[in-house]
Amino acid sequence: MEQVVIMDVTPRDGLQDAGWYVPLEEKAALIRGLVDAGVRSVEITSFVHPKWIPLLADGDRLVPLLRRLKGTWIALAPNERGVERAAAAGVSGVTLVASASESHNRANLNHSRTETLDILRRAAERARAAGLKVRGAVSTAFDCPFEGTVPIASVMAVVEAYLALGVDEIGIADTIGTANPSAVKERVRALNDACEGVPLSLHLHDRCGWGLENISAAYEYGVRRFEAALGSLGGCPYAPGAAGNLDTERLVSFFAEQGIDTGIEVDKLAAVRERLFTVLSHRLPAPE
Ligand code: ZN
Repeated sequence: MEQVVIMDVTPRDGLQDAGWYVPLEEKAALIRGLVDAGVRSVEITSFVHPKWIPLLADGDRLVPLLRRLKGTWIALAPNERGVERAAAAGVSGVTLVASASESHNRANLNHSRTETLDILRRAAERARAAGLKVRGAVSTAFDCPFEGTVPIASVMAVVEAYLALGVDEIGIADTIGTANPSAVKERVRALNDACEGVPLSLHLHDRCGWGLENISAAYEYGVRRFEAALGSLGGCPYAPGAAGNLDTERLVSFFAEQGIDTGIEVDKLAAVRERLFTVLSHRLPAPE
């Protein structure tokens, strides 16, 4: 049976702008539920400065709660300080982020793209020294909310910078959810040539309803790693109009129907989603 790896990003991408706070214990329960359903890789939090994302300010305390679980815990880390916190907390790896388009990079990260890549070079060195897996993620790898279609050359420039850092995986994100299957094929083909041996992961937001067709296109072109969130939670606070993430349950079912193994039991995911949505319905504010 062909296999794909689905990294669930609910605790990070889903909850960072879900609007309401999910208490630490419930975040741990969410991750336990995902693992129990067969998810092996989870993007669990973001080690940005707590003032930027108060809803995820508890990452340092979350990771120790997962010690007895078996899984790969990935955390987003925007700089050296974030990597230090991630390493101290005990994650397996970090996701570094830069946008392919200059204006989204400035809106999202407050730096020029060149400045960001320099910051990430130091972050990657720190992560390597700590023995962490390093993922290089490219936001706006298709369209930018401010600049429109992003030239492939801009995507490749970030990817090449990541490859020079020796990253273990490249992730490309359709930040505003406007990718279509031919754009996916075009970009994946170009990246396959450049990435030689470094696996590619696809992070889609599903605005136009083409999410699964985009997944098929990427699969056809050799992509075997995908990112998704329960209940399509998530968006991007710095990308106006960004749609939610691709839904994990739909993605698992989609592969299962085609005899492609994800190792995930979709029925178990439904209960995990229901519990999470009940917590969100309590509309708790982030703690001070
Ligand atoms: Zn996302």
